[in-house]
Amino acid sequence: MLSYQHLYHAGNLADVHKHSLLAWMLDYLTRKDKPLSYLETHAGRALYDLAAAEALKTGEATQGITRVLAAHWFAETHPYRRIVKQIRDTHGSQSYPGSPMLAAEMLRPTDRLHLAELHPQEYSALDFAMSPYNAQCYAKDGYAMVQSLCPPTPRRGLMLIDPSYELKSEYQTLPVFLRQITRKWPVGVIVLWYPLLTSGAHRPMLAELEHSHREALRHEVGFPPARSGHKMIGSGMLVINPPFGLSDEAMRLSRCFKKDTSRDRRD
Ligand code: SAM
Repeated sequence: MLSYQHLYHAGNLADVHKHSLLAWMLDYLTRKDKPLSYLETHAGRALYDLAAAEALKTGEATQGITRVLAAHWFAETHPYRRIVKQIRDTHGSQSYPGSPMLAAEMLRPTDRLHLAELHPQEYSALDFAMSPYNAQCYAKDGYAMVQSLCPPTPRRGLMLIDPSYELKSEYQTLPVFLRQITRKWPVGVIVLWYPLLTSGAHRPMLAELEHSHREALRHEVGFPPARSGHKMIGSGMLVINPPFGLSDEAMRLSRCFKKDTSRDRRD
């Protein structure tokens, strides 16, 4: 039984990390006039209201996207900032795009989107939010969806794997899953998000992933826990077949996070 709901956490610093690098990569990939596939294993509901009671209860978006935009981490031309603005112009000033909507806004009519979401309520919201776009939504297990679609048509493209890690076994099964996927789709840009945890539970998984995918880009940012006792103290992205220039953008982002954390310590 799934209990995680991203509407409590949308727009937090982990989303800023994940969504800004995702937008950067999709911007890069869509510069070439060749169609691509976008596959997402854990889609969530695609559109969030940061004024909703759930978001206000945690206050994570206030510490995340709201603060980051005010601090000008992203130039007006940055694809992440551009899409957030575009969504707010359409859906209201407190709206926030999840990764499926961010991707759909950036892709072209010749591109294909496949999105999986297992939670029934989240799936209904996803299906509704994505109805104006040319996207296929599946109410099924995301790992099974991509196993059956890979290699996708078109062959160029990107897969985002953004689990809620509700099943602790995912830390063991993800390395096996990624080996299978990269064998089936060797040219795909495969992106895995993971949390940095005080317990260090993510570390053995990463050691195994780095051993299997030596050329992958690993990028991590640290931030203060959202609440006292909260176990997540940072966000990580592992990118297999990273697009050219991604490491420079990741380094730029590291500097923003570091500056923000040292400001927190001074406050
Ligand atoms: N990727 C989204 C974004 O950045 O906007 C957020 C996704 S949220 C972290 C994870 C989602 O995965 C939750 O909505 C959860 O219901 C869903 N989920 C959990 N296990 C799943 C599975 N095996 N297959 C598909 N969806 C799953």
